[in-house]
Amino acid sequence: MQQLLRATTVALVAFSLAQAQAQTATNKPNIVIVATGGTIAGAGATTANSATYQAAKVPVDKLIAGIPELNNVANVRGEQAFQIASESFTNEKLLQLGKRISALAKDPAVDGVVITHGTDTLEETSFFLNLVVHTDKPIVVVGSMRPGTAMSADGMLNLYNAVVLAGTPSARGKGVLVAMNDDILTGRDAAKRTNIKTSAFSSGWGPLGMVVENQAYWFRAPVKRHTMNSEFDIDTLTSLPEVAIVYGSGNMTPELYDAAVKAGAKAIINAGTGNGSVPNYLVDTLKRIRASGVQIVRSSRIADGFVIRNSEQPDDKYDWVVAHDLNPQKAKILAALALTRSNSTSELQRVFWEY
Ligand code: GLU
Repeated sequence: MQQLLRATTVALVAFSLAQAQAQTATNKPNIVIVATGGTIAGAGATTANSATYQAAKVPVDKLIAGIPELNNVANVRGEQAFQIASESFTNEKLLQLGKRISALAKDPAVDGVVITHGTDTLEETSFFLNLVVHTDKPIVVVGSMRPGTAMSADGMLNLYNAVVLAGTPSARGKGVLVAMNDDILTGRDAAKRTNIKTSAFSSGWGPLGMVVENQAYWFRAPVKRHTMNSEFDIDTLTSLPEVAIVYGSGNMTPELYDAAVKAGAKAIINAGTGNGSVPNYLVDTLKRIRASGVQIVRSSRIADGFVIRNSEQPDDKYDWVVAHDLNPQKAKILAALALTRSNSTSELQRVFWEY
C-alpha cells in the first residue's frame, strides 16, 4: 500500500512537473535565430586570439547549444541562412535574407527573430531590414567582436541579450534593433565606429536602452519611419539598383565619379569632407553627372552630425540631395531603395528626411 502511495505521489509530482514545464514552454516566446556567419560564428587557434581568427565557422545549432541559458528565456530554433563574413554580403543576399525574415515574421508561431551577423556590414543589413520588413514583431540583429574561442568572448552574452530582446513585448513596434555590448540600438543609426573593441557599435544619437539580466530597459524611441510604416516592402522587391560611394579627401580626381557612372551607378553618395562638401574643382563634374540622370547625394565622412541642405553647396540649384544624418553606407541602402520607386530628386529628398 505504502509502495502504491509512493508510486502515485511520484507519478503526480512527475505529472505536475511536466505540466509546469509545458506551461513554461508555452509561456516562453518562440524565437528563430537566423545565422549568417561573422565573428559570432568565428573560431581562433588559441584563446588569446581575440582579433586573428576565421569568421563564419560555427553552425547555428552549435551556437545555440553553447548557451543552454537560452532555454530559460525562449523556445529557440536556428536556421543557417549563410555562413559568410559580412563584407561579402551582396544585394542578392540582402534581398534573400529580407524575404526569409519577412516570411518568419508573418508566421503566427514566431514571436521574434534574431539575426546573427558579421559586424562589418551589420549596419547596412539592420537598416535595410528596418526599411523593408513589414512587421511589428521584434527583429534583432547581433554580432560579436571576439570569436567564441577567445577569452572574454562577447558573443554569448550578446546573443543571449538579443534573444531576450526579441522575446520582449515592449520591443514590438520599435523597428529593427541591434543588441551589442548590452546596448539596444536602432538598426537605423547603429554603426560600427571602432573596429577592435567590444564597444564597437554606437550611434551619434545614443542607444535606445540596455538589456541587463533578462530585462530590457528603454530610454528613447525611434522617430523615423520604419517597418510597419515604411513604403518599401521586401515582398515586392526583386533587385536593387547600383549605388556608388565616393570618399572625399583633399586632392581628388573627377575620374572616380566618372568611373562610378561607367560602372552603372544610378546614384553617387558623396562621402564628403565636413558638411558633405564638394571641392570647387569637382562641382562641374557633379553637375554634369546629375544632368546625365544620375542622382548626387551629399553625405559626410564625419561619423557624427548631419549634412545641412543648401549649406556648403546650393542643392536646390544643382538638383542634389542631402543624406541628412545617414552615413554614406546607410545612405547607399536608402538611395537604392528609393530609386526602386522614383528617380525624382524631390522624392529622394523626402525619403531622406522621413527615414
Ligand atoms: N569581417 C568579418 C565580418 O564582418 C568579421 C568581423 C566581425 O564579425 O566582427 O563578418
